Amino acid sequence: MIPPIASKFVAGETSAEAIEHVRALNERDVAGILNLLGEHYDDPANAAADTQSYLELIDDIGRSDVDACVSVKPSQIGLDVGADTFAENLTEIADRGAERDVFVWVDMEDHTTTDATLDAYEELVREHGGGMGLCLQANLERTREDLERLADAPGKVRIVKGAYDEPASVAYTDKDRVDENYRDLIEYMFESFDDGVAVGSHDPEFVSLARELHREHGTPYEIQMLMGVRTDAQYELAADGVEVYQYIPYGNKWFSYFYRRVRERKENLLFALRAILS
Ligand code: FAD
Repeated sequence: MIPPIASKFVAGETSAEAIEHVRALNERDVAGILNLLGEHYDDPANAAADTQSYLELIDDIGRSDVDACVSVKPSQIGLDVGADTFAENLTEIADRGAERDVFVWVDMEDHTTTDATLDAYEELVREHGGGMGLCLQANLERTREDLERLADAPGKVRIVKGAYDEPASVAYTDKDRVDENYRDLIEYMFESFDDGVAVGSHDPEFVSLARELHREHGTPYEIQMLMGVRTDAQYELAADGVEVYQYIPYGNKWFSYFYRRVRERKENLLFALRAILS
């Protein structure tokens, strides 16, 4: 069982608990993005097991009445085993998503995985004509070109600042420079994408920017935030008519995810403690 202190950031150990969390969120007009925790499997059996879990999760969402989609990590479904294994497993998940009308997101990991992830994703999303989305990261210098490549493809792009420590040879390492690039990329998306713009950020500056650009260009968009982070802002945006998705991790590998949230922001531990004590 997940201790109360971690349950602010992780919905439970089972898909049933995660779906129940989405059901409550939907009451507040926030949709869910479900992520089974797991990454960096070099044993194909582990990648196959998590692929199977995603297929079952998609079936469960398809059978339920909740507003939810899924998000998978490439190294969770075989990228560390090989690009072919990853592409095969992602194809199975994408096909099942299309069959059940459940949207499939692909998370982005460190820069050494970008080409293989983008290639497999682009082939599938063009074949399916949508129903899928990919995360791209503003800290990587290449991302403007990757966005241009996807601008005329069906599907969505979630643009984020980037969570991985990357070398200066491929990435902006200064926080202000990442923010500057994030602004440029968000502006480019609102100007060049017909739809499919997803801004994955808790930063009030960029949430406001997305709202302004939507007013200016009319491009449909959504805001995505993590479970347990700025929850009140998620509810307020949704009440104000913004399409909001909450990214919801679940599963038995919750400890390292919880530890990461606390390490990146000490206040998270205080928030979690306060939630338990109040
Ligand atoms: P930050 O630069 O961390 O913070 C800016 C401001 O936001 C802060 O000053 C504060 O005002 C506010 N804020 C931030 N955190 C908090 C908090 N805990 N409580 C209160 N206010 C806060 N990265 C990847 O590399 N690959 C992915 O696939 C990926 N998927 C993601 C999916 C979603 C839905 C989200 C939200 C993020 C994802 N990320 C991913 C992580 C992302 O790259 C950033 O590392 C992360 O979102 C932190 O950046 P930020 O834009 O939220 O703002």
